[in-house]
Amino acid sequence: MVIYKFGGTSVGSPERMQEVQSIITRSGERKIVVLSAVSGVTNTLVRIAEAIEAHETDTAMHELTGLDERYQPFLSDLFGSPSGQQKARLIMEESFRTIRQFMEQDWDDEFRKIILAQGELVSTRWFHLQLQETGIDAILLPALDFMRTNAEGEPDLEYTAARLSEILALYPGIKLFITQGYICRNHQGRIDNLKRGGSDYTATLVGAAVKADEIQIWTDIDGVHNNDPRVVEGTHPIRFMSYREAAELAYFGAKILHPSCVIPAELALVPIRLKNTMQPDAPGTLISLRSSSQSITAVAAKDGITVIKIYSHRMFMAYGFLRRVFEVFEKYRTPIDMITTSEVAVSLTIDFTDHLHEIIRELKQFGEVEWEGEHTILCVVGDNLIKRSGIAQKVFAAIEKMPIRMISYGGSRHNISILIPENYKRDALLQLNSLF
Ligand code: ADP
Ligand code: ASP
Ligand code: MG
Repeated sequence: MVIYKFGGTSVGSPERMQEVQSIITRSGERKIVVLSAVSGVTNTLVRIAEAIEAHETDTAMHELTGLDERYQPFLSDLFGSPSGQQKARLIMEESFRTIRQFMEQDWDDEFRKIILAQGELVSTRWFHLQLQETGIDAILLPALDFMRTNAEGEPDLEYTAARLSEILALYPGIKLFITQGYICRNHQGRIDNLKRGGSDYTATLVGAAVKADEIQIWTDIDGVHNNDPRVVEGTHPIRFMSYREAAELAYFGAKILHPSCVIPAELALVPIRLKNTMQPDAPGTLISLRSSSQSITAVAAKDGITVIKIYSHRMFMAYGFLRRVFEVFEKYRTPIDMITTSEVAVSLTIDFTDHLHEIIRELKQFGEVEWEGEHTILCVVGDNLIKRSGIAQKVFAAIEKMPIRMISYGGSRHNISILIPENYKRDALLQLNSLF
């Protein structure tokens, strides 16, 4: 079994959807195809949900009209027959009805999740219809039947594996399955999602669950690049990369991969191949046990970081102090990204700030607390870079003019993380490019 995942741009127009069909029909192995929403649609759905929640019905209706316009080319160009076009229209109208009904009800947070799910529900139904119209046998598997998160909000891989094996056993002769990326149910059975960019995560979770031979993530670029191509010109793709190198880059801001998506593939030892839908023959990037063998493979940057400092003359040397600090973050389910300590203080960073004020209030029992938002973590990744001499010196020389707030070196063998104020990010990425 091979998993194919196509992102928003890859299904972003009728021509692109047809290209997806030609890519998946080039080889005959059994496959599960995971699709994102048409590009831009999830952003529109976010705005629609916000408007409905705020009782701004006019804004919501205006956004819905925009979505209708976005979808029109699919209705006219994707399907050759009038009956195909009619079925495609009904799929869209059903989705719009689902959204509109929430305008007349008292808001419930589950409505947002149901609205956000509409992008993937429509794109997969259209794609499945397109296959049927072309006479290709395929089964549309509802992700809501097998993707689930547990009480901690983490994917329940055991459940997914068990459910998928039951479901796939129902179709012994079928070689092609389509499903939605991103969407799932929570532990209470309510509709939820795997956070923005989550279709990559669906693909790797499904790949791990069925012990796939390979997970292919098809997107709009020819693999993981050595620097952020949105900021720096002349970046180039990395041919091979270890799971660890890729996991660090994904977590620290390389948008091409969802932050957590490498982990299930790494645990199940299923390779991830990144491919370009616009250039299907480009080699892309293979993520597996084979590393880049480079001392510096790539750099990435993660924005929206808040740094918190706790000064405590009284308590810092006492054992158990850090545990008590960490318990505060645990209580508010807030992951810590970076941490540095001194004799009298500890600094740490978070990017999930929903409970910032409660956290600060509780930390104040330990001493003086300061916090500051709008920081960026720069992440330099290499194969075993910590073991190679002179790398840190090169990295810091490249960004010698940057106001560095924190450094993390040695926590992982493959990464150096550096905290800087967000407004220096662009310059820092440009300067770090001199490392390649
Ligand atoms: P999809 O919709 O297919 O999931 P995304 O937009 O989520 O695609 O991810 C692909 C984009 O990630 C690229 O177009 C590129 O601009 C951006 N990107 C950021 N960092 C990197 C990187 N290091 N390598 C490749 N692409 C990157
Ligand atoms: N459609 C979702 C998003 O835009 C999921 C994805 O594309 O991966 O975030
Ligand atoms: Mg993505």
